[in-house]
Amino acid sequence: MIKVDWCRHCGAEARMTEEHLPPKSAGNAEPITVYNEVNGALKVLRSYDKGHTIPSLCLDCNGGASKRGLPQAYATWREDVFGLLGQSAAAMHAAFGWDHNDLWLLAKSETEAFWLPMEHGRGIAAGGGVSLHPGRIARQVIGMILAVQGTRQLRDERPELIAAYESKGPASLTRHSLHVALADTGTLAYFTDSVLAVTVDRSSQRGPRATPFWAIVFRPFVIMLSEGASAPIEAARIDQWLTYPDNAIFTRADRKTSYPIAHQGNLLVGFLHSGADQVRQAERPSTETV
Ligand SMILES: [Zn+2]
Repeated sequence: MIKVDWCRHCGAEARMTEEHLPPKSAGNAEPITVYNEVNGALKVLRSYDKGHTIPSLCLDCNGGASKRGLPQAYATWREDVFGLLGQSAAAMHAAFGWDHNDLWLLAKSETEAFWLPMEHGRGIAAGGGVSLHPGRIARQVIGMILAVQGTRQLRDERPELIAAYESKGPASLTRHSLHVALADTGTLAYFTDSVLAVTVDRSSQRGPRATPFWAIVFRPFVIMLSEGASAPIEAARIDQWLTYPDNAIFTRADRKTSYPIAHQGNLLVGFLHSGADQVRQAERPSTETV
């Protein structure tokens, strides 16, 4: 039953609507059962008929994102990445004969990331036509991080987040940075009380470890909001995508050009946590690329 709660975006007390997280258009429209690990045993938390939802937004806020094209841009981005991963897996299979799924096992070492350039126009099925928009992607990401919060801490104490989310012009996150990495989410993500949480082993991290961060894991992404400039794991920084106004027009032709998503200096990093040990055991050649 939908109850009265505080809206994770506007903060008002209101009757909640079920927000799709990730967006329905990003592969979240099928029946799903969410499990939680309790004392080593899996327990069913909740079952959903039409994708995973959280009663976290008021009616106005839930409808507003779609009107701005935010979930659509995110879904296109995700499709793009899956297309590129598929291409990389095929290239790896052709070169080494490894199973396509072994792409997730590729890692140079425990501390060195697997770098995956984002180049648009690759791996895209014919048709489409949805604008891929860096500003809208980053705003959707902020909206999703806010939507899963169990407390008002982010919403109320960090107004720059909502300001950037709602901005139609260039925006920035003053105290924060946004990062994205690729990951096999099976070993990273779990649900607790409808809030998607992430476990990150920071023991090997260099530098200060006290930086707060908030994370969501929606396959194939780990998305992190950090206080400060650095991410808790190696990842690509994407908050500069907010410099693109919400209403800028990006067409299919723009997908083949170089803008921050695709720029050489802003490669999307895939840090493949789960497969590192297996790769080392297999003693695969260290010079391979995909
Ligand atoms: Zn609201």
